[in-house]
Amino acid sequence: MNLSSISLFRNLRLDRGRRQFAVIGLGRFGRAVSQTLHHLGYEVLGIDADERKVNNLLTDEIASHALQLDSTDPTALREAGITDFDTVIVAIGNYVQESVITTLNIKEAGVPHVVAKASSEIHCKLLKKVGADHVVFPEHEMGCVLARSLTRPGILDRFELDPDNSIVEVVVPAEFDDRTVMELELRKHYGLTLLAVAKEDKFEINPSPVLRLKKGWIMVVIGSNRGIEQLPV
Ligand code: ATP
Repeated sequence: MNLSSISLFRNLRLDRGRRQFAVIGLGRFGRAVSQTLHHLGYEVLGIDADERKVNNLLTDEIASHALQLDSTDPTALREAGITDFDTVIVAIGNYVQESVITTLNIKEAGVPHVVAKASSEIHCKLLKKVGADHVVFPEHEMGCVLARSLTRPGILDRFELDPDNSIVEVVVPAEFDDRTVMELELRKHYGLTLLAVAKEDKFEINPSPVLRLKKGWIMVVIGSNRGIEQLPV
């Protein structure tokens, strides 16, 4: 996650009272975003150039409001009240030009938080150049997650701090069975710090050095991706 994305999420946390989102582009991705926000209780305006998609959104009750308009037209966006929205999601992946122009229009209109969907590396770069605060590339990101989970099935979840360091949730491997935290010397052997251990559902944060681990428990570690890759999971 880059610095502008971090400041976006920090500001969203501070602005929790604001509950209005606009989603532009109602393909599968845009509908999923709209549906989830709406079901979480937020006000959502869905926008698409395709009248059928706008109507479907209202019929399926997955947005509070929906409008048909061409988002490359700055006047149409202003008339739709886009500047009243604190966060706008541009979910137009397959039409690069429309997606970039829409993002530019919204940033120029002064919307503080714009999240845009990219469909390629170059699309991602263009969106950042025109001011997107956060760019998602779902096909690429899901592909990476799938490849990782297929090759390292012991890694259950991963939070990437930066390109080199992560926090991961891993299944305690057979090699660590019946050994204490102290005996494992994770910092010395892998450069990793143990943050928590879970037996069944309950996590023990900052576990005692004398805690004896069991194969199949879950542990959460922080450290370099290189160290994580060396874990026997
Ligand atoms: P998926 O359906 O796989 O999620 P996607 O999110 O990449 O794909 P696209 O195929 O890019 O979706 O289309 C998203 C939506 O954006 C479409 O419904 C399309 O009608 C809409 N759209 C494209 N250009 C504009 C525009 N200029 N103004 C408003 N809506 C637009």
